[in-house]
Amino acid sequence: MAKKIVVIPGDGIGSEITGSAVEVLQKTAERFSLELEYEYKDAGGTAYDKFGTPLPEDTLEACKAADGVLFGAVGGDKWDSVEPALRPEKAILGLRKGLGLYANLRPVKVADTLAEYSPLKPALVSGVDLVIVRELVGGIYFGDKCESEDFNGTERAWDLENYSVPEVQRIARLAFETARLRSGRVTSVDKANVLATSRLWRRTVAETAKAYPDVELNNLYVDNCAMQLAVRPAQFDVIVTGNLFGDILSDEAAVIGGSIGMMPSASIGELTSLYEPIHGSAPDIAGKGIANPIGTILSGAMLLRYSLNEEAAAQAVEKAVEEALADGWRTADLWHEGFKKADTQTMTKAVIDHL
Ligand code: NAD
Repeated sequence: MAKKIVVIPGDGIGSEITGSAVEVLQKTAERFSLELEYEYKDAGGTAYDKFGTPLPEDTLEACKAADGVLFGAVGGDKWDSVEPALRPEKAILGLRKGLGLYANLRPVKVADTLAEYSPLKPALVSGVDLVIVRELVGGIYFGDKCESEDFNGTERAWDLENYSVPEVQRIARLAFETARLRSGRVTSVDKANVLATSRLWRRTVAETAKAYPDVELNNLYVDNCAMQLAVRPAQFDVIVTGNLFGDILSDEAAVIGGSIGMMPSASIGELTSLYEPIHGSAPDIAGKGIANPIGTILSGAMLLRYSLNEEAAAQAVEKAVEEALADGWRTADLWHEGFKKADTQTMTKAVIDHL
């Protein structure tokens, strides 16, 4: 039976990069005899212009019924004056809530051909191949909060961090399952020397680990993890952590990769999972046909892996990307003397040629 993929191009460069990813998915489908169907839906500023809302009900319903969602990016200066509740970025929050996207997966893999773009020394980034599994719907971002109150005559504010055992079990299981598809090592990151939620987190992750004897578990405090990512990032396989720590560590890890245009992500849902590059809609280059499509193409590979269980097809896409880069093709964001300059279409074709 055909697998249904909802494609949400969104705004800015969204239609250019999702167009590339669909071309690559289609070529991969032909090679691996997969039947994929694509349904295009609006979200973000484009949807606001057409329907007066950044996330039409019809888009959300189509996503719920799909096997996977491929998302471009939303936002742009054009909608800066739109009232906050209707801004394009609200579409992302609506999809997170509507699809129950409880975990964010951010792989960081630095191919030798790309080591020069990292702010770290090439010797340090060589061999980096890690994934951060971040809890996305709990913790301090979603706890009770107080914007302002009187406390012994002074003003104070507070945010409450809480995690329940089932919330931690769910994300821990995902991390262990993810590790099984990789090198089989999980590092759980917390602040158990200070925070009660972290102590429950650590205890629950250890308990959950008993069902995964083939996976190695170790724990790190978040401050140490932030340092280790900068001094020895190649030591990590899967890092699992809560919402706040994951937000910060996943951006730190993304920088190690060197180029924002290259990084994919997956948000794993209870109903459907959503795949998108980590960058935004890049309004400064939209419509010029020069955007780097690789972050979105690799997001398509993640869709094949996590939503369609097509590991071989996912690896074929990742290998094709590495080979296109090894051939010397670079989009404008990465190009310098000595490389072959590619626009979005040329880069897409270079990847397809290796499939
Ligand atoms: P951005 O990621 O869109 O762009 C930052 C810089 O990186 C720009 O110079 C851009 O040209 C460049 N860049 C980004 N992706 C690229 C690619 N694929 N190829 C080549 N260059 C690329 O971030 P921003 O400028 O801060 O935000 C622009 C808009 O995107 C804002 O409205 C913001 O709210 C929105 N945004 C959306 C998402 C999302 O949809 N998930 C994420 C981040 C930002």
